[in-house]
Amino acid sequence: MEMKIIQSPAEMQLQAHTWKKEGMQIALVPTMGCLHAGHLSLMRKAAENADRIIASIFVNPIQFGPHEDFDAYPRQFQADCDLAEKEGVHVIFCPDTKGMYPHGFQTTVSVGTLSQGMCGANRPGHFDGVATVVSKLLHLTSPDVAIFGEKDFQQLAIIRQMVRDLNFPATIVGAPIVREEDGLAMSSRNKYLQGEMRTQALCLYRSIQSAQKKVAHEQQVVAADTIIEATKKTVAEAGGKLEYAVVINEHSLQAETLVGSSSVLAIAVKIGGVVRLIDNSKLFTTMK
Ligand code: AMP
Repeated sequence: MEMKIIQSPAEMQLQAHTWKKEGMQIALVPTMGCLHAGHLSLMRKAAENADRIIASIFVNPIQFGPHEDFDAYPRQFQADCDLAEKEGVHVIFCPDTKGMYPHGFQTTVSVGTLSQGMCGANRPGHFDGVATVVSKLLHLTSPDVAIFGEKDFQQLAIIRQMVRDLNFPATIVGAPIVREEDGLAMSSRNKYLQGEMRTQALCLYRSIQSAQKKVAHEQQVVAADTIIEATKKTVAEAGGKLEYAVVINEHSLQAETLVGSSSVLAIAVKIGGVVRLIDNSKLFTTMK
């Protein structure tokens, strides 16, 4: 089956309803494009879970703040289509801003406590924008499953909560972080990392690795503060600007004082004063 490109939300909804009537299982992979191996891993997971794969490509203006990189966000539509087609994607859904937010649009979906800390505290309104666009995408594509990366850890928790709270009939599946060979988490924004910024960007993964080592080797329970202080140091030494480093419970996203089996270290750093990167990992690993 040849991959279709659909721009119209109404046409997307009709296509999804037709597939549902035919008894097809649908998987949705929402993206902002500029696809990399992380996105492709989500598409592969989608293929394991469904008969029809829809990948959306939409740089969602309402999740960007006024001084953020909406205009500069990397876009490479044709290359994205080629990559998606190789993964067996059936439809690329690529609405434009007017199609998603026509004149007079005035509804917002807002998830409470989970949206408040971490990226939510540093990017006011960001998660309302995410929850709103994901709600629309779920309505337009009727997926049985929707795949999201654990790279955006807070986002995944918020979407799971929203789907539970608003009774969306979709299962949310999380997919592990795909990394470059040296450990940098893949991100469309890595394209901005020029020269030595690329090396500096390794401070996120280095912080995670040394935290995991500490937890694995320490005889006693490790205090979250020790991990946070070590992360601050690693980031500062690399020349990055720490936005936040938190040790949180993987489900509630609440800060923890002692590292336990459900603890996650989540970090956001600005490299070169402009490129904002995030990363996270569970702190207890099977690593020996
Ligand atoms: P984005 O295009 O950055 O909005 O990301 C679209 C989806 O891909 C989100 O669910 C992300 O969490 C996921 N994603 C982005 N980077 C990675 C990665 N390195 N590994 C796994 N999933 C990722």
